[in-house]
Amino acid sequence: MSNEIPVKQIDPATEPSNNKNKIETVELYASRKKIYTREVKGVFQRIRFISLIALMGMFFLFCWISINGQPLIHFDLPAREFHLYGATFFPKDFFLLSGMLIIAAFGLFFITTLFGRVWCGYTCPQTVWTFIFMWIETRVEGSRNARIKLDKAPRSAEKIIKKTTKHSLWLLIALATGLTFVGYFYPIRELIVDIATLNANGWAYFWVAFFTVATYLNAGWLREQVCLYMCPYARFQSVMYDPNTLAVAYDPNRGEPRGGRKKGVAPSEVGLGDCIDCGLCVQVCPTGIDIRDGLQYECIGCALCIDACDEVMEKMDYPKGLIRYATENELEERPSKILRPRTFGYGAALTLMIAVLVFILATRVPAELDVLRDRGALFNYTGQGLVENSYTLKIANLSEIPQTYHIRVEGLDGIRLTSKSKLLVASREHASLPAVVEADPDAIQDTNNTIRFIMTSEQDEALNIVTESRFVGPGQ
Ligand code: SF4
Ligand code: SF4
Repeated sequence: MSNEIPVKQIDPATEPSNNKNKIETVELYASRKKIYTREVKGVFQRIRFISLIALMGMFFLFCWISINGQPLIHFDLPAREFHLYGATFFPKDFFLLSGMLIIAAFGLFFITTLFGRVWCGYTCPQTVWTFIFMWIETRVEGSRNARIKLDKAPRSAEKIIKKTTKHSLWLLIALATGLTFVGYFYPIRELIVDIATLNANGWAYFWVAFFTVATYLNAGWLREQVCLYMCPYARFQSVMYDPNTLAVAYDPNRGEPRGGRKKGVAPSEVGLGDCIDCGLCVQVCPTGIDIRDGLQYECIGCALCIDACDEVMEKMDYPKGLIRYATENELEERPSKILRPRTFGYGAALTLMIAVLVFILATRVPAELDVLRDRGALFNYTGQGLVENSYTLKIANLSEIPQTYHIRVEGLDGIRLTSKSKLLVASREHASLPAVVEADPDAIQDTNNTIRFIMTSEQDEALNIVTESRFVGPGQ
C-alpha cells in the first residue's frame, strides 16, 4: 500500500466561481443582542432570593464584625497576617489557605457531579449581583415589554430620568461593593473615613474605583457575557456531568410535539404534547437560550425557566415539571443513581482533605522557636573549665495574647542554659534572645552533639516546642 497522499493542484484563477471548493467568508463575530428578561415568581426564585440576601448580607457585614478585638475576616497585607473567623494565619500558613481553596474547589466539583450548576445559578457573585441589578432595572424601567418599548422610544425627559436613575442606583451598589471588597484588606471604618477626608493612600482609591467599575460593567452591562465567554468554569463543568447528574431539563417525551391550544384543552384532544409553545421559558432566561433544545453550556442552572413553565402548567391544569431538575437517565426512562463511583471518589477525597485540614488546624502551634548557632567560635572554656556554646534564639508569638516563654536545654548530662531563660513576647511579635549553653567536658562524648531547646509558656500549658541544634565540644 502506498504511503503517499494524493494532492491535487488547484489554480484559483481557473476554478469556476460556483465550485464547491469556493472559499466563503464567515463572520466570526456576532454582535450582542440585548436580552430583556421577564420577571418570574416561583419556588426556585424564592430560594434564589433567600440565597442572595444571605450571601450579600455576609459580604456587606463580615468586614464590620470583630471578635475579641480581632476582625472576623481581614487580609492585613502590610502586617502579612490573615484573620479568618478568629484564627490568625501568617505567611508560613500559606499552605493552609491554599488547602482551604483546594477543598473549596473540590467541594464545587462534588456538588456539580450531583446537582449540576447550582453554584452558578444560586451563589456565584456574578449571578447574585446581576440578579440585584436586574431587580433594580425592573423596578425603575418596568416590565420586559415596558423596557423594550423604552429602549426603542426617542429621547424624552421620562427616558432620561429613568435611565439616569437606574445607572445611578447601579453605580451606588457598585461603589458599596468596591468599598466593601477593599474593606477586607484595609480596615473598613478607617477606609470610609480616609476616603471621605481624602486621606487614604493611592492604592485604596485605585482598588475601590477598579471594583466599582468592574461591578457596574459585569452586573449592569456584560451580564450573561461573563458566563458565556469569560468564566472558565462554564467551559469545563461538562466533564463533571454524567447521565446521573441533576440539571435543569425539558422533558421532550412529555412536551413534544409542542403547539398552541386553548386553556383547559387536554393535550390528547389536539394530538400534542404538554408544551403549549408559549415561549415564556425563553423570555425569562438570563442567557437567552431555549432549554427545549437540550442541555447547553450557556445554561447557568438558575431554574427561572422551571418557575415560568410551572406557572404555565398550573394555568393549563397540567401537571407541573415539564421543565424540572432531572437526570439524563430519568428523561430517557432509565434508572437514575445518585450514589455512583464518581460521587464516592469526590466524596472520599473531600472528606479526607477536610479531615487533614481540621487536624492541622487543631494541632497548629501558636509560636515558633528557631535556634541559630553562633558561627564565630566552635566552643569556649569557662573559668570553671566547662565547655560553652553560644546561640541566638528567634521566638515568634503567633497567639492573640502576650506570652511569657521559658526556655531550657536537654541532650547531655548536666547541660544547662546560663543566659536569660525567660522572655515576655507581645502578641504577634517576634523577639531575639542570645543564649549561652554550658556542659561538663566529661559528659561530652563526641565533638558534635545533638541537643534540644524546649520552650514552654506560662499562659498556654499545652505549648511545648522542641527545636534541635548542635553542641560542639572537644570530644573524648
Ligand atoms: S414555558 Fe413550558 S409550555 Fe411554555 S414554551 Fe416553555 S416549555 Fe413550553
Ligand atoms: S435555560 Fe436559562 S432560565 Fe433555564 S436554567 Fe438555564 S439559564 Fe436558567
